[in-house]
Amino acid sequence: MSGGPLLQVRHLVKRFPVRSGLLRRTTAQVHAVDGVSFDLQAGQTLGVVGESGCGKSTMGRCILRLIEPTAGQVLFDGQDVTTANRAELRALARQMQIIFQDPFASLNPRMTVGAIVGEGLVIHGLAQGRAEVADRVAELLQMVGLSKDQMRRYPHEFSGGQRQRIGIARALAVQPRLIVCDEAVSALDVSIQAQVINLLQDLQEQLGLTYVFIAHDLSVVEHASNRVAVMYLGRIVEMADARELYARPRHPYTESLLAAVPVPDPSVKRQRIVLQGDVPSPINPPEGCHFHTRCPIAQKGLCDSQRPELKDVGGGHVVACHLRN
Ligand code: SF4
Repeated sequence: MSGGPLLQVRHLVKRFPVRSGLLRRTTAQVHAVDGVSFDLQAGQTLGVVGESGCGKSTMGRCILRLIEPTAGQVLFDGQDVTTANRAELRALARQMQIIFQDPFASLNPRMTVGAIVGEGLVIHGLAQGRAEVADRVAELLQMVGLSKDQMRRYPHEFSGGQRQRIGIARALAVQPRLIVCDEAVSALDVSIQAQVINLLQDLQEQLGLTYVFIAHDLSVVEHASNRVAVMYLGRIVEMADARELYARPRHPYTESLLAAVPVPDPSVKRQRIVLQGDVPSPINPPEGCHFHTRCPIAQKGLCDSQRPELKDVGGGHVVACHLRN
């Protein structure tokens, strides 16, 4: 262990080429992730929120190198993930797992739950022989609130929430230290969402896990996260401790997202901010502040030409806005 943050992301960039014409020439670039940096301490959860297309899932996949970043650096416990060779990546894959949004699509329908959860144990040599694998799978299923008798069933026999539990058991099988939860509860009903979030939190306490918790809804990450990063068109525009961000949002985009979240306490008044239009295309995103085309307080000649950098406004609360820092 390095003693520093478990995960360090430095100036991460991912661009996808857009090809067209007979020769499939690159004619444009999708700026999916545009210089993202953050640190994450062991045992903590960073919530990452933003509308679809803001690059949060691409960022999650780049951290695990499921897709190759275009530039930047990812350090896991001090080890450079971005330059790791195959053997090193394989070892890292054990420590860094991902849970996807659609558990049905990510679970092989022809494999039993036992085989799905046990696969990682066998690949990484964490259990030997049928009996040991079966014992460990039974233990993992129990950890996620399923029964060992369900080992012989197939994914289609389970509800959405149960399938997500299977996905969590599969991730846990290899004893990871970091789990990227990529919209892991977004497809579930609200009551089931809460159950799965509670399960993830219990597992975090028991096992000391570290999470990057990606969601498009601020209310989903509020209780699950220590810190929250808000992304817009590939950039982090605001990041703070969860309570601070919800109590004192500074960026106009965060304010607009929070304005859409119902407040249980009627004495708490939030300004209603309705954004104009949709998120612009990440192909040729707007100059300057990416948000200026929708920002209710944008200043001509400043916001449309100069990129605002993240600045600390106190206590680790960082904001990228010319007028709010
Ligand atoms: Fe709005 Fe300008 Fe701040 Fe961007 S920099 S959020 S456009 S005020």
